[in-house]
Amino acid sequence: MPQHHIIDPLVVVEETVRASRFSGLAELLDDDDYASLDPDRLEEWVTQLREVERDIRRLRLRLAHELNGPGAECDQCGAPVLGRTDRRYCSPACRQRAYRRRSA
Ligand SMILES: [Zn+2]
Repeated sequence: MPQHHIIDPLVVVEETVRASRFSGLAELLDDDDYASLDPDRLEEWVTQLREVERDIRRLRLRLAHELNGPGAECDQCGAPVLGRTDRRYCSPACRQRAYRRRSA
């Protein structure tokens, strides 16, 4: 039995989505709250959040691939495109990049 079958796919997706929701709580903090944090831990937190962002982005793109099928890919980066079927880009950033490339 392959190792990945030990993990329930539903648990992986549900837990990742649930954990990502807590990131909204950070908006409740004000400048004093952030100033009260341990400066020695900032680098560790930034590094971990960068990895989480990457993992969540990968999960989102992979789920979008399941949702939309292999046909709907971003013209700029090839990532799956969410939403309307006439959308050409996966994100505003990719639309901007494509525009800059065309007008360069
Ligand atoms: Zn893209």
